Amino acid sequence: RTTARDLTSTLIGDRAGGWDLAGELPVAVLRELGRQGALCAQVPVEFGGLGLSSADNGELTAHTGGLCSSVRSVQTSQGMAAWSIGRFGDPGQRRHYLPRLTGGQLAAVAFSEADAGSDLGAMTTRIEIVDGEAVVTGEKVWTTAATYADLILVVGRFGSGAAVAVVPRDRPGVRLTRVPHPSGCRAAGHADVRLDAVRLPASAILGGGGHDLSMLVTAMLLYGRMSVAWGCVGILRECLRVSATHVRARSQFGTELARHQLVSRHLAELLVAEQVASRACEHASRCWDDGDPGLVAAVVLAKQVSSRNAARGAATAVQLLASRAAHDGSPVARAYRDAKLMEIIEGTTEICQLILADHALATVG
Ligand code: FAD
Repeated sequence: RTTARDLTSTLIGDRAGGWDLAGELPVAVLRELGRQGALCAQVPVEFGGLGLSSADNGELTAHTGGLCSSVRSVQTSQGMAAWSIGRFGDPGQRRHYLPRLTGGQLAAVAFSEADAGSDLGAMTTRIEIVDGEAVVTGEKVWTTAATYADLILVVGRFGSGAAVAVVPRDRPGVRLTRVPHPSGCRAAGHADVRLDAVRLPASAILGGGGHDLSMLVTAMLLYGRMSVAWGCVGILRECLRVSATHVRARSQFGTELARHQLVSRHLAELLVAEQVASRACEHASRCWDDGDPGLVAAVVLAKQVSSRNAARGAATAVQLLASRAAHDGSPVARAYRDAKLMEIIEGTTEICQLILADHALATVG
């Protein structure tokens, strides 16, 4: 764990701002993090992973998120791909794919389509078996890390159910179009992915397919939501650190900013936001590690709390730094842009609220 954390610090260093402005991560950095197992650290040791618990992987994810949300986004995609292969792949598929993901290859996960965002039940991508081969046809949008990925896990309709196909990016019929100028996580390699009758061996369909679409998506997103939630904790910790340093160092009206009570209230709110998000994530990871039946609701709650707190907390940090945060190169300006998008991905704030309301109706009273 220490090694993965140190490696992440060393490889990212203070370069995240430059990568954000350039809109590009160095692939060598991603491959090195991948080779050391740091991008999908919960993968068991037998498959070349670090075998971390959800709690320890969460702290690693928060550390990455505090340094660079674009790298953390790639980490979330890689971890979600590995989790999905572990969950839905058969033993042979796990042996085939997981060592690749812990050996330096990169992966992305494609659910969303132009007319199927929150409503993934509306997806039209098709995975079929034709003459013993899998054929994938459809158009995915906003696939994080797709421009770096060697493998794209594509979710689609499969007969009357659903399936996940592992599609090598260089397969004939796969075409990527970069999402131009994303407002946050700018270097995370988002792309729209077009699949024109892409032919694959049938063994590329995880577990042979035939899952219920809603169950499949919920299970895959479980990891993504947990990972985003911890990434937001990292954003909050970094905003708190930068803000506290600034208000101690700068004076106005002859007094340290930290001594102005309206300023210290902002700092107190930021601390509360960070602590509450941390506790929600720790609880969800404990549910994950203990196999608690309340896991799904705990993870959605953690994602909801952390992403909202990060969006508000980063706005508070911008307020505290004022003109020092009023340009793109500022770490808290980057956090502000990155954090807002965390309320959109892996289930928007509103979709999380619907899930939590259903949970309340089913369990309370
Ligand atoms: P819409 O579904 O059109 O929603 C618009 C608004 O309506 C939202 O506020 C939403 O909450 C609200 N709304 C919708 N339905 C309801 C309802 N029933 N009740 C109340 N409110 C509702 N997708 C992938 O597959 N893979 C990825 O790796 C990936 N990465 C992404 C990275 C980023 C930075 C972004 C911005 C998106 C990414 N996405 C990815 C897509 C993302 O999952 C979708 O943007 C998200 O699910 C929302 O869909 P939408 O944008 O179409 O919004």
